[in-house]
Amino acid sequence: MTDKDLPALSIADLQSLLRRREVSASEVIDALRKRIQSVDGEIGAYLSLDIDGAMKEAEEANVDLPLGGVPVAIKDIINVMGQPCTCASNILRGYRSPYDATIIQKLRTAGAIPFGKTNLDEFAMGSSTENSAVKLTRNPWDLSRVPGGSSGGSAAAVATDAAFGALGSDTGGSIRQPAALSGVVGFKPTYGRVSRFGLVAFASSLDQIGPLTKTVRDSALILNATAGHDPRDSTSLNEPVPDFAAKLGNDLRGIRLGLPKEYMIEGIDPQVRAAVDDAVKKMNSLGADIVDVSLPHTDYAVAVYYILATAEASANLARFDGVRYGHRAENPKDMLDLYGRTREQGFGPEVKRRIILGTYVLSSGYYDAYYLRAQKVRELIRQDFARAFETVDALISPTSPVPAFKLGERTEDPLQMYLADIFTIAANLAGICGISVPCGFAKVEGHRLPIGLQLLGKPLGEAGILQMAHAYEQSTDWHKARPPIAPAK
Ligand code: GLN
Repeated sequence: MTDKDLPALSIADLQSLLRRREVSASEVIDALRKRIQSVDGEIGAYLSLDIDGAMKEAEEANVDLPLGGVPVAIKDIINVMGQPCTCASNILRGYRSPYDATIIQKLRTAGAIPFGKTNLDEFAMGSSTENSAVKLTRNPWDLSRVPGGSSGGSAAAVATDAAFGALGSDTGGSIRQPAALSGVVGFKPTYGRVSRFGLVAFASSLDQIGPLTKTVRDSALILNATAGHDPRDSTSLNEPVPDFAAKLGNDLRGIRLGLPKEYMIEGIDPQVRAAVDDAVKKMNSLGADIVDVSLPHTDYAVAVYYILATAEASANLARFDGVRYGHRAENPKDMLDLYGRTREQGFGPEVKRRIILGTYVLSSGYYDAYYLRAQKVRELIRQDFARAFETVDALISPTSPVPAFKLGERTEDPLQMYLADIFTIAANLAGICGISVPCGFAKVEGHRLPIGLQLLGKPLGEAGILQMAHAYEQSTDWHKARPPIAPAK
């Protein structure tokens, strides 16, 4: 195994090499560093790296732990002690985290090494990573396209073997959609399954942290290490945590998969539709029964999401006032001037748009018409899923209606950007779990662009959809494909 081959390994394969002492944790960090140096100049997945810190941890790593010696990249919206946490925003430039998020503590307890912070849309608001105030991240399959978002840095790092696995956060699709567009696995656990303590809050009733990985098994391994109740997050679920890898390897006999008829809309790219149709046939041939289901309130999901998410964001982002964190405007006349100019200078256009929208829907006189009504429709959307899960074990759909779009193509039109998440958003509103796994490629302008298959599962049904995704993945070669980026000499 040379330095060159090491970074291509899955977490599971890396872990067995480490355990057999065929490679040391320090050699792994060194190989990863070289890989990042050779590919990330072009891709731009990372915002910061702490090689020295990672090396020190590697020297002391206990490789017999579940993730012993495995480096994991972290979306730069999760606090890692001593590291920057910019949320890709100017308002947090220069800020360093004084503590570890619970999920980082859990990763460390499992022996993993948090390694590098990855790019995102500012405060996770976006679907292309273009809202980052720091830099662009490019899609590794076609450098003129977006990697998806908001966890685009994590997706691109994993896709280019510049990370063995990464954490992302998913408020309306931000793990699953970039996973689909970049050709990796992305997993959003049930709301409350993983502690949000130390995740910078965007929309607290929707946010959830999860893994982006090369294989379904690797997602199960990260979930094993990171799920569970946390007294510091009052919304975290006090439920037993099963072994999420235990059912991997089972086939699909007896499983019922539902095709939501409302998801078969006009705007789906024909190549995406064909790939998903093939995937459904494949799952059927592996033993699953396929049935039609209805989610009647689907049409309202995007509108409801943009009322609730912006309302929550406007409250959560009130803390960035120039007093407590990061950027502070110079020579303020008084307190209001300090708040106003700090926020004017610190936040980008999309974040401002959402704060304004969120403040509006919460303001007296409009609260009942927008916020309250959206809450009611959210409940109807949740009931749609609950009813569907009475007859099926999981729902199946494309993750994104289109493959990766061009850089700049949707930045002038926020509505077009919002529509990138039509298939992912409802899962957050309903609090259920979902996974995206590679299911083919679209051929566009001479490039192969990855397509993702989404499986949605009932609350706490993670082990089931991991099993189904794994059975599908193992019957295909899609997850073995690598983007054609040429490493620098
Ligand atoms: N793209 C959606 C948004 O812009 C979802 C983002 C996310 O899941 N963080 O809000």
